[in-house]
Amino acid sequence: MGEVLRLDQVSKIYGSGDAEVRALDGVSLTVDEGDFVAVVGPSGSGKSTLMNIIGCLDNPTSGRYLFAGEDVSGMGARELAHIRNKRIGFVFQQFQLLNDLSAWRNVELPLLYRSARDRRGSALRVLEQVGLAKRVDHRPNQLSGGQQQRVAIARALVTDPDLILADEPTGNLDSASSRDILAILRQLNEAGRTVVLITHDPAVAAVAKRVVHTIDGHLDEEVAAGGGGASPVGATGGSHPHMSLKHTLLTGLRGILGHRLRSILTTLGILFGVAAVICTVGIGQASSDQVNAQISALGTNLLTITPGSTSTGGIFGGAGSASTLTMADVTGLADKANAPDIQAVAPVVQARETLVSSASNWSTTVSGSTPGWLVANARSVSSGSFLTNADVSDHAQKVVLGSTTASDLGVTLGDSVTIGKVPFTVTGILTTVGGQGFQNGDDLAVVPVTAAQDLLTGGDPNSVQRILLSSTGSSTLGSAYQEADQLLMVTHNIGSAAAADFTIQANSSFLSTAQSVTTTLTILLASVAAISLLVGGIGVMNIMLVSVTERTGEIGLRKALGATPGDLLRQFLVEAAALSIIGGLLGVGAALLAGRLVPHFTTIGVTITATPVLIAVGVAAAVGLVFGVYPAARAARLAPIEALRSQ
Ligand code: ADP
Ligand code: MG
Repeated sequence: MGEVLRLDQVSKIYGSGDAEVRALDGVSLTVDEGDFVAVVGPSGSGKSTLMNIIGCLDNPTSGRYLFAGEDVSGMGARELAHIRNKRIGFVFQQFQLLNDLSAWRNVELPLLYRSARDRRGSALRVLEQVGLAKRVDHRPNQLSGGQQQRVAIARALVTDPDLILADEPTGNLDSASSRDILAILRQLNEAGRTVVLITHDPAVAAVAKRVVHTIDGHLDEEVAAGGGGASPVGATGGSHPHMSLKHTLLTGLRGILGHRLRSILTTLGILFGVAAVICTVGIGQASSDQVNAQISALGTNLLTITPGSTSTGGIFGGAGSASTLTMADVTGLADKANAPDIQAVAPVVQARETLVSSASNWSTTVSGSTPGWLVANARSVSSGSFLTNADVSDHAQKVVLGSTTASDLGVTLGDSVTIGKVPFTVTGILTTVGGQGFQNGDDLAVVPVTAAQDLLTGGDPNSVQRILLSSTGSSTLGSAYQEADQLLMVTHNIGSAAAADFTIQANSSFLSTAQSVTTTLTILLASVAAISLLVGGIGVMNIMLVSVTERTGEIGLRKALGATPGDLLRQFLVEAAALSIIGGLLGVGAALLAGRLVPHFTTIGVTITATPVLIAVGVAAAVGLVFGVYPAARAARLAPIEALRSQ
């Protein structure tokens, strides 16, 4: 016969100073293998304190406690958890079953905190042993009190422990069920199990082989049994396994499903946060695409050269009066040898004129230019054709109209339009481009530059008000700018940039300004949305804290059955992360739905790309983990006795 446990001058003192309570005062007790000891005493005499220490749920203030020959007095939470799991089977007064698990699932619980095979088989075997073979799939609320306590005894037996520790196991039962349970404990002892039974009732204690009385923290043995120097049963040893990842996940998910309404409400916060982030970024993306498209239509590769320097306000300053640009400049810039990155060059002579057709008249901007105008402005004709080089050299009286101008004048191809008393023939209509910044790109007229000079500047062949040019691509815009700048500096005999008598302006600067505006707006909106994600995370934390408080009893029970602080930390982290990830995925669904519906019913565009979706879900998961750490750590830190007492 080995020794299961030995208490050596063990004391437990609560509080200090005047409030000091000596719940146990120098208690010594030895329990051998196969023994059946009842601890009896009135309320407040120290029974529960003794049971907590015997059950490795609490450490003594002083003295030594050996369990199976090992001193457990100084062990940490993790080691104590393993001893509880492997070597002690608890039976509590309030049964302490988990209500949303069936009988066999409750019995299986301690096996989940170690690496055990065929858990269902083991659970069914012990349930049969306590006479519950026909009730294995019933939930605790479908069982009588006596049956529930039998499930609890089965749970204590399933790990094949060295000791069964029962605290008032009949306290909540009627007399018939009490006899039943005591008979089972008796049978177990006769089959070789070591049992320590704690009760206030001497009649219950009578079932034991030995009865020990607790009186004000002291022990008083009724029947002394031999076996003083027995050797202890085998040492605990071995590795310390913990709950597998699969069961941690399952336990976490059961926790979520067990509280559906609360879980749904928690995920709502994350759902809206994620959906808001994705939608605002999507709306920002769509409007930025739209602005880009509109500005690109203006010709992002377009450079405009105007006379005068920027410092003298040359851009809008009296064009023509200070003209320093000539047709020679145009020819020079058009020479590929000088400027390989310039694609098209077009001189412009323009004025506001009234156009008269047979049907009506219309005032618009008339530009004299060359075929390069169409290329430089990235425009096209929808019907007819644009001006040719032959038209330019012939001073041809031909006009190409914007679509708005054509329709306002009520003219089509081949019709005649009078500009300043000179008749022009409509040879082409430009493709509609819509509003372009400050001007209407569809309200204009283009004639050969030579005809415009005849009409507007008295035939001066050198008069050029501005020069349009386009680069071969958006990447060569910078070098095209440099080439034009250098060429004009040389041909205009200018030494320093400050003395330049011309200004080159890029259209794309407009684009980058617009892009930075939409980017700023997107960042602003996304930050507001991100804050709502943060608020969602705080919501998860609050609910998890409520959950930890509400489930204190469950946490205590799991600890008594051998869950380590790490097991509980992981269980609650999994719950928080799962809530956030589920909320995040639902949020993606909501965002995708909104992305389809919003453009359908409004003019707001939503472009959802993969990156913000992945980032939002990733952030949601991280938020769940980060905000889950605090509640999970609280659950892990709860002392098992405090947690059990809460029930
Ligand atoms: P029993 O289980 O026999 O009723 P307990 O072991 O619960 O007795 O309590 C023994 C004594 O220790 C009582 O006087 C009780 O008030 C005191 N006590 C128990 N737990 C605590 C505690 N956590 N803090 C302070 N005093 C306690
Ligand atoms: Mg008590």
